[in-house]
Amino acid sequence: MGDRTAAGAVEMLTTPDYEAMVIGAHPDDCDFGASATSALWVKQGKKVVWVVMTNGAEGSEIPELGDEELRVMREQEQRLACEVLGVQAVEFLRFPDGHLTNTEETRRAVTRLIRKYRPRVIVTHDPTQHIYAPDPDAEPNATGYINHPDHRATGSIVLDSVFPFSGNPRSFRELLAEGLQPYRPHELYLFFSGQINTYIDVSETINLKGQGLQCHVSQFNPDDREKMVERVRERAAMVAKEAKEKKGLDMEFAESFRRIKIHIPVEVKAETAGAEAEA
Ligand SMILES: [Zn+2]
Repeated sequence: MGDRTAAGAVEMLTTPDYEAMVIGAHPDDCDFGASATSALWVKQGKKVVWVVMTNGAEGSEIPELGDEELRVMREQEQRLACEVLGVQAVEFLRFPDGHLTNTEETRRAVTRLIRKYRPRVIVTHDPTQHIYAPDPDAEPNATGYINHPDHRATGSIVLDSVFPFSGNPRSFRELLAEGLQPYRPHELYLFFSGQINTYIDVSETINLKGQGLQCHVSQFNPDDREKMVERVRERAAMVAKEAKEKKGLDMEFAESFRRIKIHIPVEVKAETAGAEAEA
């Protein structure tokens, strides 16, 4: 980074406006990954924005269904889910589903939104997670699965946008002309990760997660939709059990993340240093 005090230097902002921006590849990914945590933050009086990278047009078993028809349907489902959760804003970037790649265009679009909303926390897919598979000897009847390429692409686009692009005034200079100043988020929370280090107690909002997912009518058959709240509670109870085993935390229902701190404000650093000195 260059001299920030040089004549003509543009200030990099670090004071957030939104608490969190949750970025998913498809409509429903933010729901699965972080909706109970999103709803919890909203309940605490914080502002949350969701971003959907693709148009969701490959998310159906019916090839005859028109792309545009499915896009409109899925965006409507996502808006309804956000309403259930209390999420204040949702943005649709509408890149083609199934073909998302890390390009100038996709990085610019995400950088623009980060500078526009200035979220303290960015929540998204872990781009390093390619394969989920149990040990075939330990669990001979369990199958593994491959993480969707759009999920990996989303994680990689978002991380590149967080660093270096959103904070660098010389990146995407056309954004300065739109009035969007460089901004640095403070933390990353990655979902669907193999390197979990953080558990959020979502006992207060776990039912909202199930109800939000039920809004995605096009994605589930009626039977699965009916059982959604129950399934979501079962899964979150397993995550809470893991939180107990790994960190000794007592929670009934939890969501889990790989959390990475990237900017600690000076005043927070001073507080933490004080607390460490007292301990
Ligand atoms: Zn997805």
